[in-house]
Amino acid sequence: MLLQSSPTNVPLQEVKHPLAEQFGVQFMVLRTDLTHPEVSGNKWFKLKYNLEAAVKQGFDTVLTFGGAYSNHIYATAAAAKVYGLKAIGVIRGEEPKVWSDTLKFAQEAGMQLHFVSRDDYRLKTEPTFLQGLAEQFGKAYLIPEGGSNALAVKGTAKITSFIDIPYTHICCAAGTGGTLAGIVASVQDQNIEVIAFPALKNGGFLKDDIAQLLKEYNGTSLPESFTLQTDYHFGGYAKTTPELIAFIKTFEADFGIPLEQVYTGKMLFGILELIAQGYFKNGSTIVAVHTGGLQGRSF
Ligand SMILES: *Cc1c(COP(=O)(O)O)cnc(C)c1O
Repeated sequence: MLLQSSPTNVPLQEVKHPLAEQFGVQFMVLRTDLTHPEVSGNKWFKLKYNLEAAVKQGFDTVLTFGGAYSNHIYATAAAAKVYGLKAIGVIRGEEPKVWSDTLKFAQEAGMQLHFVSRDDYRLKTEPTFLQGLAEQFGKAYLIPEGGSNALAVKGTAKITSFIDIPYTHICCAAGTGGTLAGIVASVQDQNIEVIAFPALKNGGFLKDDIAQLLKEYNGTSLPESFTLQTDYHFGGYAKTTPELIAFIKTFEADFGIPLEQVYTGKMLFGILELIAQGYFKNGSTIVAVHTGGLQGRSF
């Protein structure tokens, strides 16, 4: 099955940006977006061990949560199909008149969509609400919103294994923090700085969330070398500005690496601004993890 072997196509691509040259740093992008056409980027790593666990534990259905534009919903629908599992997506908000491409794809992949009000959606971790879902849909393996749990961290801890050069910094966009937790868990050298770029406003809370995921995964705590850059949210989750879109288009044209506006575009913008501010010492090697999500590119 497609997701059961390790991905082989995760190249490390150098970005010869003039700013990198000017400040004497090497800038590399780890292309996990190339892992799988539909379960791309970090989602492959986050879902693999969860779906294997679902099969091993005898479930025939997985149930998860997300918004109408969620890359996690999209990837779970595709991955569940690969594993021969039924999938139920609990979607935040009333059913829209016009479905997003994400919802259309998920349904075509066989996911059963269940729309709940925003108020009900907030109950998504409450035992009584989950009990109600179990009565309605039967027993299902639960994957939390965004897919972040200890098994997701086990998967994302494999991402750094594709980096075959020495490096000083590793950067990654953050939504729920499961990907960052895996990166932190797998970076052994305390001198390597791990930098998270939250895609949402006031992303400082992610520090606690990532610490919690790390603790659940292997009982360790966040090292000093972990930092958060909370200024690159561009107004909040899924919000954009003309400046961000223009940046993405220029970057894509100059370096041939496709980006999207929710996560990777914001991170790349942030890294280049930090380079320009002299944040990275001369001689640094920066690895930016391209977490995929290109299905959500909206321009
Ligand atoms: C889902 C997603 C993220 C966020 O990952 P978390 O593990 O929730 O922090 C980052 N980038 C892309 C492209 C995504 O689709």
